[in-house]
Amino acid sequence: MKIKNYINGKFEDPIHGAYINNYIPSKGEIYGQIPNSSKEDVEKAVQAAEKAFPIWSNTTLEERSKIVLKIADLILEKLDFLAAAESKDNGKPISLAKTVDIPRAASNFRFFANAITQFASESHESVGLNAVNFTLRQPLGVVGCISPWNLPLYLFTWKIAPAIAVGNCVVAKPSEITPMTAFLLSEICDEAGLPKGVLNIVHGLGISTGQAIVAHPKIKAISFTGGTKTGAHIARIAAPMFKKLSLELGGKNPNIIFADCDYENMLATTVRSSFANQGQICLCGSRILVEEKIYEQFKKDFTKKVANLKVGNPSDSTTNIGALVSKQHLEKVKSYIDNAEEYGGKILFGGKEVHVKNYENGYYLQPTIIEVSDNNCKLNQEEIFGPVVTIMSFKTDEEALQLANDVKYGLSATLWTNNLNRTMQFSKQLQTGIVWVNTWMLRDLRTPFGGAKESGVGREGGFEALRFFTEPKNICIEY
Ligand code: NAD
Repeated sequence: MKIKNYINGKFEDPIHGAYINNYIPSKGEIYGQIPNSSKEDVEKAVQAAEKAFPIWSNTTLEERSKIVLKIADLILEKLDFLAAAESKDNGKPISLAKTVDIPRAASNFRFFANAITQFASESHESVGLNAVNFTLRQPLGVVGCISPWNLPLYLFTWKIAPAIAVGNCVVAKPSEITPMTAFLLSEICDEAGLPKGVLNIVHGLGISTGQAIVAHPKIKAISFTGGTKTGAHIARIAAPMFKKLSLELGGKNPNIIFADCDYENMLATTVRSSFANQGQICLCGSRILVEEKIYEQFKKDFTKKVANLKVGNPSDSTTNIGALVSKQHLEKVKSYIDNAEEYGGKILFGGKEVHVKNYENGYYLQPTIIEVSDNNCKLNQEEIFGPVVTIMSFKTDEEALQLANDVKYGLSATLWTNNLNRTMQFSKQLQTGIVWVNTWMLRDLRTPFGGAKESGVGREGGFEALRFFTEPKNICIEY
């Protein structure tokens, strides 16, 4: 299947006719093609967005909200179809696409369709000066949204929904590795009656299509989710152009386990936070730190549970771990495993490729547990972004905190304890944008989402996203 760009409400081939292959990770085969869009395609999309902006930004909140809600409804109506497409394109288990990725994409639209009806700007009475100030929150104009392959529709819509709901027009690019549900979204937007030019989806490689979006002078803001290196590259281009930037980048998140936690809940959740989506979630707890008192017990129980996970064809409803997203990514993850001993690690479980019957060329890997003793090793410092976790023990609270913070990343942390004082101390001192206590990936869409240190700049979610996609303007009236 050849998918198309969505520009000015039309489904279009790329101007220069260039295409790239799209692979099905569960089989390791080419199953379609996507446009490798050029600067000229991006230019066309920007022009369409610019033309649509005056009308869309002046459309009433009620009308905008209605259209955005319709998109949410249509996503839910097509849940099974979209989940199957996502699972096929990405390699993730169909059960995950059905319960997490696609419902969440619908929630993103529903949430921001409602949020704009509650988003109010501030006013300040300048007492004694006979003046009143108020703030206008105006949409920026044309904005760019660029997303990664791990949660394709979920993260794509997490940016697009607030951007359009608050009145901007968008040029968006999904990952070239997982373009399918973005294409299906363009069909849904068309069906929902989103006016032409409000959302333009341009497919292609990061270095060409993505770069053209970032460097386009008429694009006022870039909302990007992806790797830290790419984020730094984007910042180098966009910052001197004074664009607004939201960068959601990599992570190396600690999962800190104390002996006083609710053990069974911790164990079951830790299996999920380690290996959900083949470990390819930026929020996965890839460094497991366990209090020495329960370390040996944890090692035994965790390994036993992990050994029961079923690696297999993602379209099988009983599969726990599907295929990794690409051959290149499989090779990258394997290189950490193959060099684990050299890096100071000891493989406790997994580490091998899995050959699934009838899907022998798919990119399957066992969930892998590596024991380490030094947090400074590559396995604990670099983002592997696959079904690989490390475990190590600690003795004191101070040591656990020091280990948790001793990485360049700062996206999220999970803490397992029933001690209130410790909870407060860690919550304050962990250098991350998100701290989960006795849970993992519980998401309330009103909360600020994002990372500290090299995990990014800015926050998504709730009114933070609406603030990012608007320019505040102060009006001062003396009377
Ligand atoms: P990536 O940085 O390679 O690509 C992300 C997107 O950027 C893709 O659409 C790609 O085509 C585009 N891109 C690449 N080079 C570009 C350039 N020069 N200019 C403009 N666009 C460019 O990341 P990936 O491999 O797709 O995703 C995995 C990474 O994403 C991991 O590091 C993961 O931690 C991170 N991630 C972060 C979050 C978060 O919320 N912090 C969420 C999910 C994934």
